[in-house]
Amino acid sequence: MALADIRARMAAALAAAGRPAGDAALIAVSKVQPEARVRAVLGAGHRLFGENRVQEAEARWTPLMEEYAGIRLHLVGPLQTNKLGRALELFEAIHSLDRESLANKLAAAVQARGSCPMLFVQVNTGAEPQKAGVLPEALDAFLALCRGTLDLPIAGLMCIPPAEEDPAPHFAQLGDLAARNGLAQLSMGMSGDFEVAIARGATHVRIGSAIFGDRTAT
Ligand SMILES: *Cc1c(COP(=O)(O)O)cnc(C)c1O
Repeated sequence: MALADIRARMAAALAAAGRPAGDAALIAVSKVQPEARVRAVLGAGHRLFGENRVQEAEARWTPLMEEYAGIRLHLVGPLQTNKLGRALELFEAIHSLDRESLANKLAAAVQARGSCPMLFVQVNTGAEPQKAGVLPEALDAFLALCRGTLDLPIAGLMCIPPAEEDPAPHFAQLGDLAARNGLAQLSMGMSGDFEVAIARGATHVRIGSAIFGDRTAT
């Protein structure tokens, strides 16, 4: 199946980059996909999934988590502060920490819970007005706020390069920003560019359509 093909391509990209096997996690982005496709991937033994909406993720995965052991969910889409509590219950990682108001509310919620998901700060490397994320020039100050003032453990950075551009410079920039700030995790690479991202140090690739098929043609 497509999953096995993606795994083989990831392994080849890691080897080509001189990185150990298994050095990048595969997040299967199941948003909007029909349940039969998701079940096929579960049946193949995969357990790490990405969703971009809290409510849809909750509706889909609550029953599936009773059926299959070991499912882990990552939020890869925008997080509204009114969904924060549910997001913290459902997701082991949040890839979309993208603004100060969210960081403030997240810090309060994390303190109340006594546990924190793995956190990625989303960086708008292309400075696209319609896209979420902290601008590269504002990142150091945002990280200082999160890690200092708010005491939030930040694991790494995430980006979605502009659709029409060569993604390589964006991945390289994210890697530089992470290194400069002592961050080990890099969430980058999707169906069309995950091999490029792995060559640039991606630790988490987020792959949807190349695993499940086209989201529009169902
Ligand atoms: C949908 C989505 C993906 C997966 O996209 P594909 O091109 O289908 O692999 C990855 N990351 C984010 C943030 C997404 O919203």
